Amino acid sequence: MAEDDYEQFYKVVLVGDATVGKTHLLSRYVKSRLPKAPTATVGVEFATRIVKRGPIRKLNNGKKVKAQIWDTAGQERYKAITSTHYRRAVGALLCYDVTKETTFKNAAKWMEELRQSAEPDIVIMLVGNKVDLADKDPASRQVYYDAAQEFANLNGLFFFETSAVADINVKEAFERLLHEIYDQG
Ligand code: GDP
Ligand code: MG
Repeated sequence: MAEDDYEQFYKVVLVGDATVGKTHLLSRYVKSRLPKAPTATVGVEFATRIVKRGPIRKLNNGKKVKAQIWDTAGQERYKAITSTHYRRAVGALLCYDVTKETTFKNAAKWMEELRQSAEPDIVIMLVGNKVDLADKDPASRQVYYDAAQEFANLNGLFFFETSAVADINVKEAFERLLHEIYDQG
């Protein structure tokens, strides 16, 4: 299959608080492994983005789309992400950490920023990551599945709980998002 043999090209952005696991999710999906080096970007203000060209994905219906997934590079502080990150994005993974309530509270802010700065009809997948920790130790869970599902329903988001480390629902979350973008377009 030729590199340019695809029907649609989608820009997808990762957003969410620092340390929720965005870079790990992307690495798991695109490279089927976790990042090798430490992923936090320290003191590199100008490295505003990392562009990952995902391989061509063949959807269940036989259509091929190319997803270009943009990770953040340590500038997750609210409003610190440049408009370039959002421009022309048709899909987003809005990530939080199921063991850290503040990251879920901030999901509302990230959603607003997406709605303002990305394509108006952007498809958003809410992702509650690190579910492996909650599975191992239920007391560590700070965000309940039902609460997140309700937030997603109220705001027209799709929703998965994932683990980049234990490889739970990562492919499912990305590919469901791509399907929904395809179906909408
Ligand atoms: P980012 O700042 O959102 O890009 O987060 P990173 O991908 O850099 O991950 C931040 C930290 O969370 C790292 O120490 C990862 O090892 C850890 N991490 C990421 N995903 C998971 C996960 O699914 N489960 C667990 N237990 N840890 C994770
Ligand atoms: Mg990162």
